[in-house]
Amino acid sequence: MDTNAGKLARWLKMLGYDTLFINDVDDNELIAIGLNDKRVLLTKDTQIMLQRVVTSGRLKAVLIEDDNPKDQLRQVARMIKIDQERKFTRCLECNKLLVPKSKDEVQELVPAYVFKTQSQYFQCPVCQRIYWRGTHWQRMNKEMEALMGAEV
Ligand SMILES: [Zn+2]
Repeated sequence: MDTNAGKLARWLKMLGYDTLFINDVDDNELIAIGLNDKRVLLTKDTQIMLQRVVTSGRLKAVLIEDDNPKDQLRQVARMIKIDQERKFTRCLECNKLLVPKSKDEVQELVPAYVFKTQSQYFQCPVCQRIYWRGTHWQRMNKEMEALMGAEV
């Protein structure tokens, strides 16, 4: 619904959660997707929270109260147990689980300086993007841990 929610979706993907960011669908469609995929619905829409399917507990939904994506992440982190093992296991573009790759397999695909310094690689089976835990990864990790504070 707004770009801030898109940011939250990106954080959740970084944490390894299967995240679907949906814009422009009506409440009924959203609820149908949630039930069908057994997803937890994160929403800023108080009307959805009042629907019987939610109040009865059939569809798990969380009302996101904050506008700031960092506060949103904190709120979500309080509610779901963040699994350290899951972190950075999903493609940030496609939401697909990454596949570990050996150094040899990625030699032609990553910059030389990366190849020299990194030994662990992951590839997205859909967009073929290669991920490694370089400085960018470390920065994101630090930022995320700081955001979630003592909850982690
Ligand atoms: Zn991808």
